[in-house]
Amino acid sequence: MTEAMRAVVFAGDGKVAVQEVARPGLEGEGDALVRVTLAGICGSDLHLLHGRIPGMEVGSTIGHEFVGEVVEAGEGVTAVGVGDTVVGSFTVPCGKCWYCAARLFNHCEEQQVFGYGSFFGDLGGAQAEFVRVPHADLVLRKVGDKQSEQRMLFAGDVFTTGFYGVDQVSPGKDESLVVIGCGPVGLMAIAAAAALGVEQLFAVDSVEDRLALAAGMGARAISTRATNAATQIQDATGGRGADVVVECVGAVAALESALEMVRPGGRISVVGVHSDFVWEMPLNLTFVRGIELKFAGIANILGCWDRAVALLESGAARPEQLITHELPLDDAAEGYRLFAEHEALKVVLRP
Ligand SMILES: [Zn+2]
Ligand SMILES: [Zn+2]
Repeated sequence: MTEAMRAVVFAGDGKVAVQEVARPGLEGEGDALVRVTLAGICGSDLHLLHGRIPGMEVGSTIGHEFVGEVVEAGEGVTAVGVGDTVVGSFTVPCGKCWYCAARLFNHCEEQQVFGYGSFFGDLGGAQAEFVRVPHADLVLRKVGDKQSEQRMLFAGDVFTTGFYGVDQVSPGKDESLVVIGCGPVGLMAIAAAAALGVEQLFAVDSVEDRLALAAGMGARAISTRATNAATQIQDATGGRGADVVVECVGAVAALESALEMVRPGGRISVVGVHSDFVWEMPLNLTFVRGIELKFAGIANILGCWDRAVALLESGAARPEQLITHELPLDDAAEGYRLFAEHEALKVVLRP
């Protein structure tokens, strides 16, 4: 008889429910079974609920951000062992294809994502008491005894995604950097840039609470409600515009703002998830100004998490300050409601 566990499942129609489901077990020798001690609710979980991800079925378990304890490991697992506290990467690459060999794990030909439906490998979600982790040597990372679970939870997705978005345009310490959009990923981009030593940081958003957090991380807050943000940035950069802009919204208007804010010869990193199919780009102006436009796509978590995790372990970045609510797993529906209605910035669940 299969044992049962509690897990958050997609209940159809934009809803989640906590139900008894079958407890997962090892399926391959590279698998590990993790008892989840803390799981995050991510913005992309909301996309699942609103039916924007094909292949998600009613009753499927959700969640891809987790910290936990390894309780079982297959024979092929060597990097982690039973009893270890670990954090998981939200993407599960195969480790064998051309892209994985080139450490471009985000472009893996057989990419899987926890709790993301049948188009992403049909893996169980991590908002559950247990999660099966394939390719555990790659996907799991040991967390030091003295590290806070809340902080390390961010290593598997949001912080490392923000870090990646900043890192791909390699800002220098003496360069100016603007982050457009101070949702969780934007705030993490600011935290990463600050931790990397970038001194002239600007945060652009319309929500005061988010700007206050950005300011607490060392950024100069610019509200789009009160002022023309591009003009303010030009004024602060000798009329040139910013050296680097990191766009974390995922809307055409934000991308156009980025083009207005960047200096000639500057770099734009596009981290926000864009779903429009076509964008009318000011081609001549972008060409003449020599703008470098770099799209992030899915973040290469495993390609950069050594460096990202080092910033967390040293305390140079403290993303746990984003957590506004920690709830028992059974209150997941309330957690989703708070997050969807913008009453919470980051909700974590404790199974
Ligand atoms: Zn996520
Ligand atoms: Zn691969």
